[in-house]
Amino acid sequence: MNNRSYSLKEALQNKNARHVLGISGGKDSAALAIYLKDNYPEIHKKVEYFFSDTGAELKEVYDFLDKLEAYLGKKIARLSSGKDFEHWLKLHNNYLPSPRQRWCTRTMKIKPFEAFVGNDTAISYIGIRADENREGYISHKETIKAVFPFIEDGLIRSDIFQLLEHSVGVPEYYKWRSRSGCYFCFFQRQDEWLGLKRNHPDLFEKAKRIEQISGNGYTWVEGKTLDEVVTRAEEREKEQWVIKKADGKTRERWQETICSKGEDDDPEDQACLICSL
Ligand code: SF4
Repeated sequence: MNNRSYSLKEALQNKNARHVLGISGGKDSAALAIYLKDNYPEIHKKVEYFFSDTGAELKEVYDFLDKLEAYLGKKIARLSSGKDFEHWLKLHNNYLPSPRQRWCTRTMKIKPFEAFVGNDTAISYIGIRADENREGYISHKETIKAVFPFIEDGLIRSDIFQLLEHSVGVPEYYKWRSRSGCYFCFFQRQDEWLGLKRNHPDLFEKAKRIEQISGNGYTWVEGKTLDEVVTRAEEREKEQWVIKKADGKTRERWQETICSKGEDDDPEDQACLICSL
């Protein structure tokens, strides 16, 4: 533990701090809330669960939050930047956010969180697992300390899926997407954009309109329009299907695929864990 983090024991001993846990809509933060409820009821009693809502989340995320609230028996506070994405886009001179210019996370996720905590001393529980080597969002505020229960207790990827399967289930969008976050998130892979087009054609069209009308010449995926991205994804899908058929392989269950792939552990995602952990 460094001077910005606490052990679970230290967190439990601290009587004055607020205890907070950010639910991203993704599997790890949800599993952490479930883990605390089942194994550390004293902490669960104190924890304030929150979700930073960008207003651009998938319906599946809201459904999952409802299930989680019912399981936890506690409310998940919904935080917001007070304005929608289109407002912030205009304010950023119509420059689409990107991995290098991630103003969306700062404005729509981190600021609402820091306003929620204010100047209070707070202990923030973070769902990074023991089998990962990444940092996650830890506030720079001196008054906020982080606790990593999965690292301390040695929980790995397969444990997370077990926790979910025995409680609220795995969020539905994992059938076609490897993480939570805004429907237009630029961290999506090509096949995930195709998944968006198939599962939420209205949102795909909306993302396209933003790119065409407000994108200031930039695209969600560097150097390619969304139409080009999904065309390529469809071609790749066909190629892979031909290879699989030639190998005599059948399709895996989607749960097995996401359990084994670890796609959301990509180091590229490191600074976006407040959105997708
Ligand atoms: S999910 Fe993606 S688009 Fe949404 S705030 Fe996070 S980084 Fe930005």
